[in-house]
Amino acid sequence: MRIEKSEAERLRRLPAVHLLLSHPLCKQLADRRGHKLVSSACGDVIAEVRAKILQGDQAVEADLDLLADRVAERVNRQFDLNYRAVINATGVVLHTNLGRAPLAEAAIEAIEATARGYTNLELDLSTGERGSRYQHVERLICDLTGAEAALVVNNNAAAVLLVLTEMAKGKSVIISRGQLVEIGGSFRVSEVMQASGAQLVEVGTTNKTRESDYERAIAEDTALIMRVHTSNFRVVGFTYQPQMSDLVALAHAHNIPVYEDLGSGSLFDLQAHSIGDEPTVRETVQAGVDLCSFSGDKLLGATQAGIIVGKQEYIQRLKKNQLTRALRVDKLTLAALEATLRLYLDDELAKRENPTLWMLLRTPDSMEQEAERLCEGLRTVFSDRAEVAIEPGLSQVGGGSLPTEELPTLRVAVRTDQFSLTRLEQELRHVRLPVMTTMRKEAMHFDVRTIFPREIERVIDSVRDAFARIG
Ligand SMILES: *Cc1c(COP(=O)(O)O)cnc(C)c1O
Repeated sequence: MRIEKSEAERLRRLPAVHLLLSHPLCKQLADRRGHKLVSSACGDVIAEVRAKILQGDQAVEADLDLLADRVAERVNRQFDLNYRAVINATGVVLHTNLGRAPLAEAAIEAIEATARGYTNLELDLSTGERGSRYQHVERLICDLTGAEAALVVNNNAAAVLLVLTEMAKGKSVIISRGQLVEIGGSFRVSEVMQASGAQLVEVGTTNKTRESDYERAIAEDTALIMRVHTSNFRVVGFTYQPQMSDLVALAHAHNIPVYEDLGSGSLFDLQAHSIGDEPTVRETVQAGVDLCSFSGDKLLGATQAGIIVGKQEYIQRLKKNQLTRALRVDKLTLAALEATLRLYLDDELAKRENPTLWMLLRTPDSMEQEAERLCEGLRTVFSDRAEVAIEPGLSQVGGGSLPTEELPTLRVAVRTDQFSLTRLEQELRHVRLPVMTTMRKEAMHFDVRTIFPREIERVIDSVRDAFARIG
């Protein structure tokens, strides 16, 4: 027969904070997470139990081991990272919300090697004198793009701001109406121009801008002709934009430099692999552009950075601008960027080692094994409660790059009327390793293209965890 203990007795049996603190689990925890947090968690856990006893809760236990477990859970939860890894099963290779480009192993190693201690960031090792952080990658970028000079800043938005401020503050910049783009995160070319103090002169129409439109707009105070890559949209049909080389010839005849914001800017000839129709940065430089800038974490596949290449005299001016100091590139970014760039010394190496290129170039055939592993795994998880099948599909490049390009892919589709897929999608965001999927036409899709082969089992584990939460 169970004897109900009196409330007073149960309260008396509650341990004091110092007793709970001396429990082996709590001692261990204090060594790892700090005495202060553990001691305060002990106090909180005991107070919680006391309150429950006073509310008449008969089930609550004051067992020391149980209390110590609760302390550990509480303290450890405070160290869960809010910003963490997720799995991208959306098939969007450069997913801006998911951090764009995953890094190459060489880049990760370079970050690790430089992060742990000191580096020669602003030290010239050959002379022992003060050096420049910009020198570590400048030669390499010039070799890879054919440009005379280069400068790396925080991101491409910063590059645009810097170029416009240095080249055209208080003067006017001619730009085609078809290129006044807004890209994600409310970056509007027209607003960045305003912020730089440059005066915007719009020419042409949304679909057509001719050489003569540019020519007619050239005035005394024209400091720059700017071209902007229409990253995330395409004007198709009845359209016209001058060839870069023709625009350069026109501008140079009037002694006006030309700047192109390339957006993505690729160092790898994707066109040769039947992806997109964009010139490489080298081709843009060859067309005679005076300055051009592009992102580090789009098609290039490195970390967030803005790379500016062009004529020596203009890059020199940019380097001296005060704004450059505020937009300067971080030491870890430089480490990852240099290592990523070095892989481009050989196309085969870049294709194999750069995850962005590797994913873009994956064919459905090469995804079959992973698709099957994933399909089998998910069938086991859902048993007879959902239909799981492999289907052909189309993935996207993302990151405002090659918006109309569709890449044939394989995806694993889950369909069911036995539980809510919307609910599963939500739970998949709340498990330890979240998986981002897409929902279309009553089906949940896992696009194999953006799931690394090493992640297949983890996807299955996360789906199992999420499904268990639905019950
Ligand atoms: C992406 C993009 C930018 C901004 O680049 P970030 O590196 O994201 O700052 C600017 N211009 C164009 C055309 C772009 O596509």
